[in-house]
Amino acid sequence: MSSLDLSDEDLELIVSELEDFQLTHGSLLKIPRGFSADIDSPVAVARPIGISVIPTPFPRAHFDQALQIQTVFNELYIRVAEDKVWLERILENLRGTDDFAAKLWDIWVRVRAEGEVQPLRCGIWRSDYMLQANEEIINFQKNGRDDASDLDVFQDAQLKQVEFNTFSCAGGSHATVVSEAHRYLASRGTHRLANLTKECLPKNIALKSIVEILEKAHRAYGPPVSDAKQTAVLMTVQGRNVNICDERPIEYAMSELDYPIPFYRVSFNEVLKHCTLGRNRQLLFQSSPRSPPLEISVVYHRAGYDEDEYDSGGIEARYLLERSRAIKCPTILSHISGFKKIQQELTRPGVLERYLPPEKCSLLRKTFMLIHPLDASPEGLMTRKVALSEGKAGDYVLKPNLEGGSNNVYGDDIPEFLSQVDMQQTWDSYILMQKINAPLVGGVLISSVSGYQGPTVSELGVLGTCIWRRDDLGQGLEVLENSQSGWTFKTKPCDVEEMSVVKGYGCFDCPCLI
Ligand code: ADP
Ligand code: MG
Repeated sequence: MSSLDLSDEDLELIVSELEDFQLTHGSLLKIPRGFSADIDSPVAVARPIGISVIPTPFPRAHFDQALQIQTVFNELYIRVAEDKVWLERILENLRGTDDFAAKLWDIWVRVRAEGEVQPLRCGIWRSDYMLQANEEIINFQKNGRDDASDLDVFQDAQLKQVEFNTFSCAGGSHATVVSEAHRYLASRGTHRLANLTKECLPKNIALKSIVEILEKAHRAYGPPVSDAKQTAVLMTVQGRNVNICDERPIEYAMSELDYPIPFYRVSFNEVLKHCTLGRNRQLLFQSSPRSPPLEISVVYHRAGYDEDEYDSGGIEARYLLERSRAIKCPTILSHISGFKKIQQELTRPGVLERYLPPEKCSLLRKTFMLIHPLDASPEGLMTRKVALSEGKAGDYVLKPNLEGGSNNVYGDDIPEFLSQVDMQQTWDSYILMQKINAPLVGGVLISSVSGYQGPTVSELGVLGTCIWRRDDLGQGLEVLENSQSGWTFKTKPCDVEEMSVVKGYGCFDCPCLI
């Protein structure tokens, strides 16, 4: 990609404009009181979240492709999340080696034993992609030639899925503001790049769509069935949260609706303190001991994805929410459906066909990388050899069934990691995924930690929202809502393996569609 011909002065101006936009629109990370010893302040402070200084080029055709297949992915995961027999077969094998999977599955088994009382389910999901460059570009880049200025790095690139997130999907609010920021700057020519116009920078409906689906789920729940006067949406959150600017806008938007919806936050570790069940398993929430109970229509999870959250209190909290009458966004089976192990099982020949007609299967399969199990099956045993091989492991990423970043092991680090003796019992729960070699694109990034100018890699996330009704009679389920719901776009320096903007690995970005 052509190198960016901008002077330091130009860049400084853009950064200063972006900074003001971010500070004014809440594109920030909160530093809670007492969080950092360097900051002596009696109140919380905040910093702009990492952002691209220049929108990074991304092919329009691949962007459209990713948006178009989102409803098909939604449909797939709706069906997977209701396929209890198939999930059970996989989870029963996992539970001996994967404590987290075992804990979640055991919660489901308890709920199953007494029967569910809420047939409606809600999903707010995100499918993440990178581009796989063509062989010529990959070789060129591998030889250390990252200035491919006279080559089209996107030529014959393919859209490849990194993972499908079904639980606590973040980034929708940040991505919306970053798109607005760059569209604003582009409308004024601030980027000083002739081919960077507002028309190349897509609008983002992510925040609006999340609010819409929560509103629809809330209305679908109906009036209170307990003595509570009102229903409300409840969002589970992590304590001492730095990412409030991604969560709070949802809450504020719910109160600005024509018919405002009460919306409350509860720390995952305080669920048992604030929530009880009514006689018909209505979920009753009291924000303080003296406040009147509210009946919760929808539980929207933005916490509960870390294994650490599931001590005995955490397990009971999730069980309470799961067995309640509230609509879960999402259910525990949808949560489990987002495991890397499930992603790997879905790449097996014939598995997609259980859920979708052939033409839809081929749309999705095109985006799959090779993913192998690391269990004791014949394929798993062969994969173990690859993963332990110094020469071969470099082309792979090793992943456990965990979310939230910093859990994967990349390339040449895999053999040593796997060789640790105490790892051997847990090998079964990992999957080995072929590495995606993305086209490197010249970019400029800035975060509170550092500035960066050089080759970058981008990742597109497409949000999907849905509501469906479980079928009690085994006659098929009813999909009530199924939409593509905006996107996230993140860019990182090319030598960074992970991607979590909140953890400082990458930056929010707006694709410049070419
Ligand atoms: P997590 O659940 O921790 O988000 P991911 O599967 O999304 O796990 O991996 C984290 C990051 O690692 C991704 O956002 C991406 O940047 C990188 N990554 C994951 N899988 C691959 C892959 N197959 N090839 C290249 N990079 C990958
Ligand atoms: Mg991820």
